[in-house]
Amino acid sequence: MRAIEWSYWLVFFGLALACGGAGTTPDKTASDQAEQRDSPAGAARSDPHSFARPDEAVVRHLDLDITVDFESQRIYGEAVLSIDNLAQASQLYLDSRDLDVSRVSLDNEGETTFRFGEEDPVLGRPLVIDIQPQTRAVHVEYSSRPQAAAVQWLAPEQTAGGEHPFLFTQSQAILARTWIPLQDTPAVRMTYSATVRVPRELMALMSAENPTQLSTDGVYHFTMPQAIPSYLMALAVGDVAFGELGPKSGVYAEPALLDRAVAEFQDIEAMIAATEELYGPYQWGRYDVLVLPPSFPFGGMENPRLTFATPTIIAGDRSLVSLIAHELAHSWSGNLVTNSNWDDFWLNEGFTVYLEQRIMEAVYGRDYSEMLAILARQELDNTLEELGPESRDTWLHLDLAGRDPDDGMTDIAYNKGYFLLRALEEAAGRQSWDDFLKSYFDHFAFQSIDTEKFVAYLKAELPKNAPQALEKVDIEAWIYGPNLPETAPRPTSPAFEKVDQYLAQWQSTGTLDTAVPAQWSTHEWLHFLRHLPSPLASEKMANLDEAFQLSQSGNSEILAAWLQAAIENQYEPAMPALEHFLTTVGRRKFLKPLYTALAKTPEGKERGRKIYAKARGGYHSVSAATIDEILGWEE
Ligand SMILES: [Zn+2]
Repeated sequence: MRAIEWSYWLVFFGLALACGGAGTTPDKTASDQAEQRDSPAGAARSDPHSFARPDEAVVRHLDLDITVDFESQRIYGEAVLSIDNLAQASQLYLDSRDLDVSRVSLDNEGETTFRFGEEDPVLGRPLVIDIQPQTRAVHVEYSSRPQAAAVQWLAPEQTAGGEHPFLFTQSQAILARTWIPLQDTPAVRMTYSATVRVPRELMALMSAENPTQLSTDGVYHFTMPQAIPSYLMALAVGDVAFGELGPKSGVYAEPALLDRAVAEFQDIEAMIAATEELYGPYQWGRYDVLVLPPSFPFGGMENPRLTFATPTIIAGDRSLVSLIAHELAHSWSGNLVTNSNWDDFWLNEGFTVYLEQRIMEAVYGRDYSEMLAILARQELDNTLEELGPESRDTWLHLDLAGRDPDDGMTDIAYNKGYFLLRALEEAAGRQSWDDFLKSYFDHFAFQSIDTEKFVAYLKAELPKNAPQALEKVDIEAWIYGPNLPETAPRPTSPAFEKVDQYLAQWQSTGTLDTAVPAQWSTHEWLHFLRHLPSPLASEKMANLDEAFQLSQSGNSEILAAWLQAAIENQYEPAMPALEHFLTTVGRRKFLKPLYTALAKTPEGKERGRKIYAKARGGYHSVSAATIDEILGWEE
């Protein structure tokens, strides 16, 4: 996911930096769970964010038969879970949150009894089903509730077309349980098949083999033959059309956006080829991208076979496609080799940012990718300052027990993770490091692993090709320690140095040469806007706005950076653009810093709350939860 910062929208997420706050789950959760886990088989139950007991009985395949009802805002139907009853268990533990269950039956016995455990505000409640040692399949008839946190139901006016409603899900990290009863932990992988019934004029898409045409009866069938973790379960329903990019790839978007999306993503086939060259074959069949309406809370989400992406990356000049490189990279780091719980999130995201940089370098050149690396370092330094350099949350190996795992989705997992892999590359030499990574993806393909497994494999394998490498990088300090080691790589960019010179010249002469910035890429603009003198008089802000039409920028990254400067310098003429942006875009990477900047002064906070009152209903729950905290908002 690209949520995090510019390059690192975490896609996710972007996913902007961690929510900062100290966790929303009461302390009792952790201890309660510790008790529940205190069983002979407990050793294998290592995910503090799941009630499942996969060491006793584990789900291997899911078969869904569901109806999507826009009127009642419910998804309802049946989930058939094929299980392996490893320990001859008499109960199957599933995760659920805001789900109603009407009936459960077993393949070998007919109807059976079930109960819900105690409710936790973040984790939901365990669904405990009575089974038998010989049970192979469990049928759960259920319905999601309108408030299901993974699901966003959009009214027609929230779409580009304006005529039809739209639905999409965002299951990562632990929200799959709000629309499907399952073992919602990345430690469990399963294959799935699905039948989905939707209104006849809409198309349904999943993280699976997908249709390219409307069905005649509103019924769609899906299969996902590769085993995936639950957070990659995804569904979208809307008025979308398909455009082909190449033999293996294509784009889905609302018809009004399709041509622009196809033009923007022309380099995807080249990116796939570059990644296969580096890290081995793409193992998921097709790679398609679905462009969602603007309320999508992340830059992108790496749902297998079908990346979900924000429309804010369509800039008209392919300047924001590193997000696609990031999501594509997850086809290796994350989807193929997966973190087994959310404390090891950096195994997904740090590796993915590293792969993303390598893809961008292969397709667009080293000068280009080094600009991304510098932006990443800036974002990381800001995050370290925000969290406090000694904070436990700056370890790569996180400790999220008792908290919402969303709290761990910060720049640390993304960019500190990236710089560790870059440090290892520099210590081992590129060829040895590339050979190691390729063998790592091959060795752990379709497995969920933790940090300890990675470190053990690294120590066993890397020295075979690069005997001295691990003496130069203090792995333990990087992973199990705060802040950044002194020796962390510090990229440089001649292009950014020229931007610095331009800024210095403007400050000393007071005149703006408009010819130079006309040649800048988005990255150079970001570097420029992030390094404006502070404070900057309104007159100077007006000069910039007049010269470069920044308040009218159609590039979401440039506009967001400009609006940030406008808030910090109280530049009133940009405030209508700010309000427009915040009420039409739901991507958390942009919302979080803008609302945070507003909240720094009483007047700004007042303005932020007024805008938020209008905007909140259009945001996905994961964005709203973050902004609620920044503004102290109570529903
Ligand atoms: Zn990601």
